[in-house]
Amino acid sequence: MKLLVIGTGYVGLVTGTCFAEMGHQVICLDINEEKIDLLNQGVIPIYEPGLEEMVKRNVKAHRLSFSIDYATSVPTSQVCFITVDTPANSEGKADLRYVRSAATSIAEHMVDHTVIVNKSTVPIGTAKEVAQIIQKVQRKRDLLIDFDVVSNPEFLKEGNAINDFMKPDRVVIGIAHPRAAAIMKEIYSPFMLSHERLILMDIASAEMTKYAANAMLATRVSFMNELANLCELTGADVNKVRKGIGSDKRIGYSFLYAGPGFGGSCFPKDIKAFQSQAKAVGYSLEIMQAVEKINVRQKRVLGVKLAAYFALKGGLKGKTIGLLGLAFKPDTDDMREAASLVLIEFLLESGCHLRLYDPAAMANAKRLLPETKTITWCENELEVADGADALVLLTEWKQFRFLDFGAIRAKMKGIAFFDGRNQYVPYEMAKKGFDYFSIGQAPAYAHKPGEEEFSNEIPL
Ligand code: NAD
Repeated sequence: MKLLVIGTGYVGLVTGTCFAEMGHQVICLDINEEKIDLLNQGVIPIYEPGLEEMVKRNVKAHRLSFSIDYATSVPTSQVCFITVDTPANSEGKADLRYVRSAATSIAEHMVDHTVIVNKSTVPIGTAKEVAQIIQKVQRKRDLLIDFDVVSNPEFLKEGNAINDFMKPDRVVIGIAHPRAAAIMKEIYSPFMLSHERLILMDIASAEMTKYAANAMLATRVSFMNELANLCELTGADVNKVRKGIGSDKRIGYSFLYAGPGFGGSCFPKDIKAFQSQAKAVGYSLEIMQAVEKINVRQKRVLGVKLAAYFALKGGLKGKTIGLLGLAFKPDTDDMREAASLVLIEFLLESGCHLRLYDPAAMANAKRLLPETKTITWCENELEVADGADALVLLTEWKQFRFLDFGAIRAKMKGIAFFDGRNQYVPYEMAKKGFDYFSIGQAPAYAHKPGEEEFSNEIPL
């Protein structure tokens, strides 16, 4: 089928490439000329494992192309997917200006029956608004062309996007007309060979499903962070509690990790937009208010721990702090709303020197952070450790799992290690000579030489 994917960001590029991989003829369109130029030169503007090879393979096979031109792309496409950004505006509402603009451009150039698919995360009622825009433009063009608007929210996760798209848990489709259902079924049929995963429903329910899914996941994260803070105050260990509750099938192990607060391009803005949709119909989403509040507080937790530790060592001013990982999660270069940004701002305000490293997000981080001599950009973990009074792990990249702690410790000036992702065993870290602080677990202080033999700590 001939498909147009409008908006060539994380979702659009993955969507278009995966559709092409499954044999569809795809044009990926963006208004950002620089992005399209790069793609036409074979340069992938985002970091997403496996994407580059797949893009190149499908371009070579002439199934995938890139364009900035609606006038030539819309008339040749049977289905137009809208995958543009929908950021939160200053009131927390989803800003739909890019969706409206894409809908207008489709309407200006459509020549035949077209299915317009909202894949961007949009509030309930957006499909109706898109239909109204198309009718309005058609009236201006003095035309009457049949069309369908469909809601097909996307659930892929950055860092695992290809796999999520190629083997989805489910594909949610909101339709108002059986004709659109048949077309959507055909588009997704290559993804359903092992078993049917298409869930058809009305449009409002499909639009709501995306917000409900992200709200539920964010709630689990904030719940675990709340629990972690309580664990620290009561002497319990959140990692053990996690295993204890996750083993209950009704709860499950996924998304039960305490950490430095959630970030990314989706959860923070979607929770805001969800609340504002509820408010618009006179309902207060109390649970989402709490989830957001807990997350804002959690993003400050590492800074509070660092300040408390160095309070007895002359304060944070003038200290050198090394940060391992900056992206909001591993396997992505996405820095949007990353917890690292809150900690960095706090540490710079406190007069620290920072040594920063991330395997993929350095370029994006440089764009967001101030140009200052107090930030040193490093090329690896050992450089981060050089002369550092403390290290902080913020993103659990796989390469940080087995660090050479002996070499790291030898490079450091101090011995403090703040683990925002509970990646290491506290007792082991103390044995390696670190004062070790994590989330929701008791701190473990560095053993003095020979002390470990007499330690009565039990590594559980
Ligand atoms: P993004 O910012 O990475 O990409 C959006 C792209 O749309 C940009 O390249 C921009 O130039 C382009 N664009 C804007 N207006 C345009 C227009 N009128 N015509 C053509 N192109 C236009 O955004 P993203 O992260 O891919 O997210 C897109 C949507 O998908 C959002 O609604 C988001 O909430 C949702 N979503 C994102 C993820 C994710 O992990 N990033 C997952 C699921 C859903």
